[in-house]
Amino acid sequence: MDLEAIRNTFAPSKSKTMSKVHNFSAGPAVLPQEAIDAGISALQNFANTGLSILEVSHRGKEYVAVMDEARHLVKKLWGLDDQYEVMYLHGGASTQFLMVAYNLLQTKAAYVDTGVWSSKAIKEAKLFGEVDVIASSKDKNYTYVPTGYTIPSDADYLHLTSNNTIYGTQMHQFLTASIPVVCDMSSDIFSRRIDATKFDLIYAGAQKNLGPAGATLVVIKKDLLGKVTRQIPSMMDYKIHIAKESMFNTPPAFPVYVVLQTLKWIDKTGIETIENRNKAKADLLYNEIDRNEAFIGTVAANDRSWMNATFLLKDESRNEAFLEACKEANISGVKGHRSVGGFRASMYNALELDSVQALVNVMQTF
Ligand SMILES: *Cc1c(COP(=O)(O)O)cnc(C)c1O
Repeated sequence: MDLEAIRNTFAPSKSKTMSKVHNFSAGPAVLPQEAIDAGISALQNFANTGLSILEVSHRGKEYVAVMDEARHLVKKLWGLDDQYEVMYLHGGASTQFLMVAYNLLQTKAAYVDTGVWSSKAIKEAKLFGEVDVIASSKDKNYTYVPTGYTIPSDADYLHLTSNNTIYGTQMHQFLTASIPVVCDMSSDIFSRRIDATKFDLIYAGAQKNLGPAGATLVVIKKDLLGKVTRQIPSMMDYKIHIAKESMFNTPPAFPVYVVLQTLKWIDKTGIETIENRNKAKADLLYNEIDRNEAFIGTVAANDRSWMNATFLLKDESRNEAFLEACKEANISGVKGHRSVGGFRASMYNALELDSVQALVNVMQTF
């Protein structure tokens, strides 16, 4: 092949000229168009360096400014003071399952088991100490959020999962605990107003509601650290990442850049507005699930997630036909997770109300 022919095999797709695709993917997922556009621009010419963001040093002043702002904006959005530190790390939320325990679990930790992700966090924590699973909704295939449990006062921390991406349940209230609270917010971070000071550690893989895969946000109250006696390898040690301002090793530079653009969009829009939109989208879809005789929701009404709505067709032999009807309406990503079946519509912050309306229209005419 000559060079021109090789170049042509990389020609940009025509997707931009296609009509709008309603993206209900569970993750990686829909992002604000502004964040995508800023990402494209930085791929071509980052901060007027004449270079792509993929090609520049993370130690250069232009990139250090990106990391600083991305860390700062999280604290601004949640109104956190200097007792808290913000990190961007590699390894996804799954690495936090073990890093949390590595850094915080001295003798015993309490976990609430609300699904696959909590179970994986529990499995990793067991490598470091005693794990007390104080509540679980496994008995009903995780279709509700357990309540009424007692939090042991002698545990090093309590671990929660605020939104269960696979099952479509969400915590709509948070308890006040007398021990530190750690929360996996991967799939509902910045989707609603919360009192972040109720939490001592919050983590989230970026690819659900914040940015591309590859960056993981960790927010920690500093006084939590330094209490375990074990040796911690450098890459696993929060203290080192904090001291190095997320630059201990090369950070996931481009994903963090796109996360910053999403955070700016959230800041400009306002979390309250985002919350109201998310509520409106969820109401629109759940009302249709309840109204429409052909469909049935899979989770307890009070615990329904505003982010991931799971539902079934009463006549499952029509599943393929429904997916086909969705496809014809430019609706993508609604096939359910294999452990629930049926359908899952993920309605993260950047998904617009008209996309939910498009799905509801298909449900009504189906
Ligand atoms: C997707 C998800 C994870 C796993 O995230 P990775 O970044 O792929 O490791 C963990 N917790 C929740 C709640 C998730 O939705």
